[in-house]
Amino acid sequence: MTFSTTVITLYPEMFPGPLGASLAGRAMERGDWSLDTVQLRDFATDKHRTVDDTPAGGGAGMVLKADVLGAAIDHARSLSPDAPVLAMTPRGKPVSQARIRELAAGPGVTLLCGRFEGFDERIFDGREVEEVSLGDIVLSGGEPAAIAILDACIRLLPGVMGAPTSGIEESFENGLLEYPQFTRPQEWEGRTIPEVLRSGDHAKIAAWRKARSEHDTRLRRPDLWERHTGARDQSASGARHETKED
Ligand code: SAH
Repeated sequence: MTFSTTVITLYPEMFPGPLGASLAGRAMERGDWSLDTVQLRDFATDKHRTVDDTPAGGGAGMVLKADVLGAAIDHARSLSPDAPVLAMTPRGKPVSQARIRELAAGPGVTLLCGRFEGFDERIFDGREVEEVSLGDIVLSGGEPAAIAILDACIRLLPGVMGAPTSGIEESFENGLLEYPQFTRPQEWEGRTIPEVLRSGDHAKIAAWRKARSEHDTRLRRPDLWERHTGARDQSASGARHETKED
């Protein structure tokens, strides 16, 4: 089945962009996924094709108009009725690998790219739209965020990645960062590959990787580590967890 993606944007020429190359590009050629772009400007109603206006209350920049956004979203929905609509915005919920996995298992996704100061807030009331952020950074437009989200979905589609297991051991898939990787040459500028990885002892290698994965997550991403250990405690003894909090 084809994963159908639709991107609503003022810059359709930015697509497929990097998604036309490498793994995603080959998957598109095979028909594993498809891409439609919707030019937001086509839904403007005046002769100047205006898509934005000044912010109510004053301030810098321009805001994308709710009426134009509404008409564009309705059109995208008619192309792909079952795909969830995600708006790219730093005010949204940071996207997670778990959400990407859910999206990739569905029929497709419609992504709405902002520009300028972003969207008239009423669009989130008037249409079913999920507000999604790529992280605590500010981009000049939603397009690079849309490309990142599409890339993350496409690599999970059946048959897209070479080995079916290679998606499972990645960072975040088990709530932890992945262990560090090494490859030949065995010595580079006096630095060697950890001995255990050359031992051929699979149990020892797995134990080392698990330990490094936990160690690095604890140091680098205390937020992930806390969630991971919290989830583990809870599944080990939900009852004990509850009494502890009394
Ligand atoms: N004034 C807004 C930022 C607008 S940036 C604010 O401060 O919240 C212009 C557009 O870039 C946004 O509408 C959004 O579509 C996109 N964008 C910027 N940062 C983003 C992020 N972290 N995640 C997703 N989209 C982002």
